[in-house]
Amino acid sequence: MGKIVFVSQLPTTEQQQWLELLQQTLSSESIYFPHQLTASQCAEVDIAIVANPDPKVLRSFPNLVWIHSLWAGVENLVKTGLPDGVQLVRLIDPELAQIMAESVLTWTLYLQRNMPSYQRQQQQREWRQLTNVNSKQMRVSVLGAGELGLASLSLLGKLNYTLSCWTRSPKTIDKVTNYTGKDGLTAMLAKTDILISLLPLTPETKHLLNSETLSLLPQDASIINFSRGGIIDHDALLKLLDNQHLNHAVLDVFDIEPLPARSPLWHHPKTTVLPHISAPTNHCTAAKIVADNIGNYRKNEILPPTVNLNKGY
Ligand code: NAP
Repeated sequence: MGKIVFVSQLPTTEQQQWLELLQQTLSSESIYFPHQLTASQCAEVDIAIVANPDPKVLRSFPNLVWIHSLWAGVENLVKTGLPDGVQLVRLIDPELAQIMAESVLTWTLYLQRNMPSYQRQQQQREWRQLTNVNSKQMRVSVLGAGELGLASLSLLGKLNYTLSCWTRSPKTIDKVTNYTGKDGLTAMLAKTDILISLLPLTPETKHLLNSETLSLLPQDASIINFSRGGIIDHDALLKLLDNQHLNHAVLDVFDIEPLPARSPLWHHPKTTVLPHISAPTNHCTAAKIVADNIGNYRKNEILPPTVNLNKGY
């Protein structure tokens, strides 16, 4: 049986907590930090469990077969490239999808119920009742309908929003209108009051939301970005917020994180900045999923579904 290494650039105490939890959950295996292994032991490593790893460290294990990420998003790993022939498995956790769906619902309601305007009004001591739009009239569109998009659409569906989604391949989803391709995106954006991004960041989705596409949204539409900062051209977004075309943007993810203090997004009256908290990994459920996947691989040599490195997700 090969060895398992845990590769991470998290703060040391967090790395230690992860290692202990993983070791407890995978009691039949020994899991090591890279510095605990000699060169000959490095050659015995076949599995790496990673959380924000330094990609260079992954090249120290010549017989690595696969990498299991503790995160659902693996954009950085895909971008920096993996050692030749090594497969990548990302975290697919229904608990995480549920947490994302709850975040999506929370901020959809925040926008639907005019919270940003009431907050501004309070600062001005202004007593003004705004029109309430009911859920059925509110057109909510989700970019991406994978693990997180589907869970979010399902929860939003319980409140009867008028739902759409945009995906690469066509889908049939109950009570959701599905769009694909450039024309599909154009058509969907024109019929959207709240646009939610749950797309992975790939060369195809980088700055998908730019001045051209954002301008296709109807007057006063709002945006929630819970996937990756690079999906949105933030300069274009700020212009469309400033010229009153867009109503508000709830942003949880940014090109640089933590968001630098100099960023205008921090203090813009029409943005809500969140510190990448829409769907944090749940340590216990994640460790159990990783343990089950590794246990299954040891027993049957079957890998869980792997990331398509050509598609980038
Ligand atoms: P997923 O299961 O891989 O789903 C991705 C979805 O995006 C799929 O529906 C896919 O379409 C669609 N897509 C990808 N490229 C596309 C393109 N070029 N055109 C149209 N549709 C495209 O991913 P997931 O698990 O739902 O996660 C989505 C992202 O959420 C992650 O990549 C990560 O960036 C982010 N995330 C954020 C947090 C947070 O706390 N903020 C936490 C976890 C994850 P098909 O179905 O047709 O393939």
